Amino acid sequence: MTLKERDKKHLWHPLTQHKTHPETIAITKAKGCLLYDENGHEYIDAIASWYTCMYGHCNEYITDRVASQMQQLDQVVFSGFTHEPAIKLSEALIEILPDNQNKIFFSDNGSSAVEIGIKMALQFHFNKGEKRHTLIAFEDGFHGDTFGAMSVSGLSVYNGPFEDFFLEVKRIPTPDGKNNETILDTLTSIVKTNKVAGFIYEPLVQGAAAMKMHDSEGLNAILKFCKDHKIITVADEVMTGFGKTGKHFASLHMNTNPDIICLSKALTGGLLPMALTSCSQEIYEAFYSDDISKGLFHGHTYSANPLACTAALAGIDLLRSENIQQNIKTIITSHNVFNEHIRTHPKVKSTRQAGVIFALDLNVEMKRYGNLRDKLYQFFLEHGVFLRPLGNTIYIQAPYTITKEQLQKVYLVIEDVLEIV
Ligand SMILES: *Cc1c(COP(=O)(O)O)cnc(C)c1O
Repeated sequence: MTLKERDKKHLWHPLTQHKTHPETIAITKAKGCLLYDENGHEYIDAIASWYTCMYGHCNEYITDRVASQMQQLDQVVFSGFTHEPAIKLSEALIEILPDNQNKIFFSDNGSSAVEIGIKMALQFHFNKGEKRHTLIAFEDGFHGDTFGAMSVSGLSVYNGPFEDFFLEVKRIPTPDGKNNETILDTLTSIVKTNKVAGFIYEPLVQGAAAMKMHDSEGLNAILKFCKDHKIITVADEVMTGFGKTGKHFASLHMNTNPDIICLSKALTGGLLPMALTSCSQEIYEAFYSDDISKGLFHGHTYSANPLACTAALAGIDLLRSENIQQNIKTIITSHNVFNEHIRTHPKVKSTRQAGVIFALDLNVEMKRYGNLRDKLYQFFLEHGVFLRPLGNTIYIQAPYTITKEQLQKVYLVIEDVLEIV
């Protein structure tokens, strides 16, 4: 039996209706930007396995460091104990994060990092004796699949069974450069009738909403409004973190810093699952007290796993290297050229780009999980490229280490797919 056949016996895959989507591909090896399946086919990983493996798969600079850490310290409880990989990682992160960030709280997946950010925002006010329980979030945002994260996600495609159990959330549109006044009016009326604890947002690029991009000045104005009203700002940089938008973090494009930042995905370069929530000293101090119950009583068994910390440290070294910074610039320029070439194509409705993220919308209506979308997905795979269209959006977010030839191949297959829509 093939792996693909054995898979069907006991496995239940994420985001999958197994009755209508019986097929999965068994990947046996990954190296650099390539994935290899059990039938010997290879695919360019043009979305870096959900934006994680940004330095290429099985990058030896990361795997060697983790292999040696494995001989030293594998796992230890992070309550009551500490260790050098976590300490070094906190120091490395504080150096590159927006300059008001001062404390790092570890977890092990993006949704949990968001839950922690939400809990920090709610408890911040609670500890100060203020009852604030409303959260503000963008329409079409995505923040994960646990309850708090689902609540703030506007993009709830199949959240029907859970909606009765959600947190209290008010939604605002994303800033488009023209709607600033309207958004600020909406915010003013929200704070008049609600006790608002926090605002959670994906800065500049909404990944799951199909790489929707918004205006940095408009976002900055929202952040300033929040500061003025003691609304805790939580930047969900799980997708945008670590260089995607051309800067180390998307929050660095605005001059108002968030109070809290959530990170995961590219944090370990895809090697190990890890996440964290950073915050300013002001947030931390609201929990620092002789009263034990004012502490943040949240913890995950694998918090600050030494191997994951080591992978993250190696990843940050790579991110800051001249080589990767040069690659990022090259990809941005290359996307610019492709954009000029493709944006006037009759099948293309619009294009957009932020750093190494490039997206184009097709001139057709498509369901998020519909037949045409599946046809495109199959076409890409058959031509050796792994791309996952979201509705009528095709986007690229390839590893920074993608070669010029591989990137050209990705562009070419996108151009070819326009012929079949
Ligand atoms: C992927 C993602 C999450 C959820 O992270 P998981 O590790 O899948 O739980 C949250 N927020 C954003 C912006 C994401 O892209």
